[in-house]
Amino acid sequence: MKYDYLIVGAGLYGAVFAREAREKGKKCLVVERRNHIAGNVYCEEIHGIQVHRYGAHIFHTSDKKVWDYVCRFAEFNNYINSPIARYKGELYNLPFNMNTFSKMWGIATPGQAQDIIAAQIADLGITEPKNLEEQALSLVGRDVYEKLIKGYTEKQWGRACTDLPAFIIRRLPLRFTYDNNYFNDRYQGIPIGGYTKLVEKLLEGTEVRLNTDYLEHREELDGLAGKIIYTGMIDQFYDYDLGVLEYRSVRFETEELETENFQGNAVVNYTDREVPYTRIIEHKHFEFGKQPTTIISREYSSEWQKGDEPYYPVNDERNNALYGQYKARADREAKLIFGGRLGGYKYYDMDKVIAAALQLCEVELK
Ligand code: UDP
Repeated sequence: MKYDYLIVGAGLYGAVFAREAREKGKKCLVVERRNHIAGNVYCEEIHGIQVHRYGAHIFHTSDKKVWDYVCRFAEFNNYINSPIARYKGELYNLPFNMNTFSKMWGIATPGQAQDIIAAQIADLGITEPKNLEEQALSLVGRDVYEKLIKGYTEKQWGRACTDLPAFIIRRLPLRFTYDNNYFNDRYQGIPIGGYTKLVEKLLEGTEVRLNTDYLEHREELDGLAGKIIYTGMIDQFYDYDLGVLEYRSVRFETEELETENFQGNAVVNYTDREVPYTRIIEHKHFEFGKQPTTIISREYSSEWQKGDEPYYPVNDERNNALYGQYKARADREAKLIFGGRLGGYKYYDMDKVIAAALQLCEVELK
């Protein structure tokens, strides 16, 4: 065998594994279907602005091991994510906090906000939320749900909030302090110079073949390595023969504008149903950019279909059960390891992907 590992996919999971394997003296080949490395964290520099080509990525973690790890490969800036929600021209701070509530209700204290929320959900009798709608209502009451959650979520997921799992909304902090930090994590920032450079560093010294679709060259590639780390879609790997897992896909309309500052914030969410996109990203604000022009991306969400780029696994009961069947099969493969957001069919953040890759390294590269 020419290589110890064939790594399919040059995203974070594959790149971390490649780095660790190389340091342990293993020989790896990375194959990547796209014409660039870095998976969906790929950034492209346009007129001095790092454009997040597959959607905004803000690194945040409370895992010191993961933070120390990424800081070996990039210096992070001090960006703190504080998105704005725009509902029919009204502007609110996210995540849901005292700034949001005081704007919504003209109140000032946490007690007043809690009383209003309690009054709005008193008659609903939700004890254990069964879905995203019940979870959202029981956390923030009806006004915030109707204006800032319902429309956005239904656009984002293409499903009624009653058909979505509650955990999705629990990703967002809810606080009764005046704090607009979107994350509760101890560490946060954007790699200076972009994510592509970070992944480039991880892959330093590893052979990478771009424009190489593993599934099209399976026989030839399988013969090259003792083991395969597969970070693509697990259902596609098995030719969907147990059924198709659902994903959401995203389409971006990106344009450069001859203005220095378009929206005054990196992320503005459009939370009503009428606006067709979910959010507008103004990339320069992730890096406090002062360039004379600006680049914005409008983000449109759609149901994934074969041939589209998959972004978000739809982790509802049906899909999780189907994934379980694929996983059981994958576990019986001696030569194959699945990982990453697509291989594990999990709505992972970047830090969780890195933690999972490092975890695999501990077991695999002993
Ligand atoms: N969400 C919402 N309103 C917002 C932002 C988020 O209702 O303005 C909900 C929505 O259901 C979304 C979920 O919170 O899918 C998680 O949001 P997050 O920002 O974590 O999504 P991501 O950045 O991963 O796309």
